[in-house]
Amino acid sequence: MRIVIKVGTQVIAGKNGLDQKKISKLIKEIAFLMNKKHEVVLVSSGAVGAGLPKSPSKNPHQKKIAAAIGQPILIHDYYREAQKYKLSIGQILILSDDFTNKERFQNFVSNIKAMMAHKILPIINENDVMKTEDLTIGDNDALSAKVAVGLKADKLIILTNQDGLYTCNPDNDKNAKLIKEVKNINKKIENLCSPQKSDLGSGGMISKIQAAKYATQNGVETLIGNGKEKDIIIKALNKNFPGTKFEN
Ligand code: GLU
Repeated sequence: MRIVIKVGTQVIAGKNGLDQKKISKLIKEIAFLMNKKHEVVLVSSGAVGAGLPKSPSKNPHQKKIAAAIGQPILIHDYYREAQKYKLSIGQILILSDDFTNKERFQNFVSNIKAMMAHKILPIINENDVMKTEDLTIGDNDALSAKVAVGLKADKLIILTNQDGLYTCNPDNDKNAKLIKEVKNINKKIENLCSPQKSDLGSGGMISKIQAAKYATQNGVETLIGNGKEKDIIIKALNKNFPGTKFEN
């Protein structure tokens, strides 16, 4: 099975930057799947979060510099964990026109496929330093959906700091109920999402639903689950997934 996994900053970072334990959990699950012959691609946020403490504050370039500092820290942390499983990783940073330019898109797909064929884990992020208003993909939820569709993945798994999509905002309504399955992402579903965003990521639940909509409409089943849950990725391949599943 070909699986694209997206992790938000909240899933791999703590109060003081990247959290090695969280990265370790993620890589352990991915290594398990790759050993079972699944093809896995990781779309990971976390560069800005990792670099921000070292970036000059009150500077208009603060976020760009944070991304530049944080991206190698992020990849280094993945590399260190992956080595425990003798797993090779590779970094790919992309911009929106890598999807719209036919030649570059084919180049992207064939390189990723070659990496997967050699059991190398591609770790993708947006090229935050080089992106401009015109070239931005927007957020990594959208990026992961484009990657999943481009690679004709079987599943897109979006990991976040909530269990999935709720009937209302679980942070301020105790009657909120987790929706286990969504067959069709219509206005009613889109309106359930609170516009709340995390401090460091750029998504929020609405961007995850938009990503799920794009992916499912283009044939990729999408699952949104809690990155903190034990074996969440492995559970996403089974029937008892404790999050929200969006049918394609
Ligand atoms: N590319 C950003 C980062 O690595 C995150 C963007 C997002 O979470 O949507 O920090």
